[in-house]
Amino acid sequence: MASWRDDINLIFFGPPGAGKGTQAKKLVVEREIPQISTGDILRSHRRGGTDLGKKAQGFMDEGLLVPDQLVIDMVDERLNDEDAQAGYILDGFPRTVAQAVALDQLLRTRSSQIDKVLVLRVPDENIVGRIVGRRMCKACGSVFHLEFQPPAVQDVCDACGGELYQRVDDTAEKVRVRLNEYAHNTEPVAAYYQQRGIVAEIDGVGDIDAIYQRLKSALDE
Ligand code: ADP
Repeated sequence: MASWRDDINLIFFGPPGAGKGTQAKKLVVEREIPQISTGDILRSHRRGGTDLGKKAQGFMDEGLLVPDQLVIDMVDERLNDEDAQAGYILDGFPRTVAQAVALDQLLRTRSSQIDKVLVLRVPDENIVGRIVGRRMCKACGSVFHLEFQPPAVQDVCDACGGELYQRVDDTAEKVRVRLNEYAHNTEPVAAYYQQRGIVAEIDGVGDIDAIYQRLKSALDE
């Protein structure tokens, strides 16, 4: 058995709608390491009406990035949790080079490091359809797609029976803003890790299970 299975710190990287969350959830089940999604944590702060949630709200709804320090502090706290001590998948973080530098700092103080960055490549023309058709469960956060992954009963979550909704930032207009943020602020993060030789590029187009197999092959290399 490959040693990474025991303790590996991963980053799932790619544009909005690349399938990071979908793929991360599959790996979470198989490897029993947590998915740390800054988008999910921010949305749970919003649902809980916390100060952080209120500060993040406007940026998120516009499709803009939340200020670095808010997200960095949030991740710093999350990395202390018991379940994050034997590996994790970071999803949606780091999203700027400043966040990547801060993450290195946080990990240095913990004598830890990122082992691999999995980059899911999906062309812009596929992204809009994926995001606009996306529906999310209000109660448990499960993600569906009207066409590619429809729930058994319309507007009802297969996992928990909760009500499905469309994120305010999942419109064609906001997707353009998010893709622009990605191109300008997030894409340079890939180059940051490429210098270290820990990046694996994965074709993120096609069947969910086929992409997952590609991802696992990249991990086993
Ligand atoms: P996506 O579908 O784009 O991957 P997420 O659920 O990861 O969406 O994030 C939704 C929103 O939350 C982003 O558009 C941004 O406003 C905010 N956000 C999430 N992670 C970060 C981050 N690391 N830095 C700044 N903002 C973030």
